[in-house]
Amino acid sequence: MGETIFSKIIRKEIPADIVYEGDTVLAFRDINPQAPVHVLIIPKITDIETAKDINPAEHGQLLADMFEAANKIAKDLGVSESGYRLVINSGRDAGQEVYHLHMHLLGGRKLNWPPG
Ligand code: 5GP
Repeated sequence: MGETIFSKIIRKEIPADIVYEGDTVLAFRDINPQAPVHVLIIPKITDIETAKDINPAEHGQLLADMFEAANKIAKDLGVSESGYRLVINSGRDAGQEVYHLHMHLLGGRKLNWPPG
């Protein structure tokens, strides 16, 4: 279940510009960046397709790990003080393309609000 292009990146079967790797979380630069810093932060488990599949009782530590990674990446890539946006697109109307939970970290420029 849950085989996507991100599964191949986790298994290192296709290349990615990895900026963080922990036991439970992997983060790499988006192939089509929308900002000077655009990183995807993903769980290494593949059975969470969208945000609606998150079960806080089961995935609480994993979510904490994702945010810990985001904080570290933002510092490492120099956007922690200037600011950045964390985005989870969930489902069709949000434009989700890859059905493996992922959090976008966007920064390095002034971001517009509301998003399109
Ligand atoms: P979504 O729209 O599902 O929230 O975002 C999926 C993101 O994955 C897109 O921003 C897209 O550019 C990125 N993406 C899709 N395929 C690949 C890939 O093979 N490598 C990398 N690094 N990013 C990808």
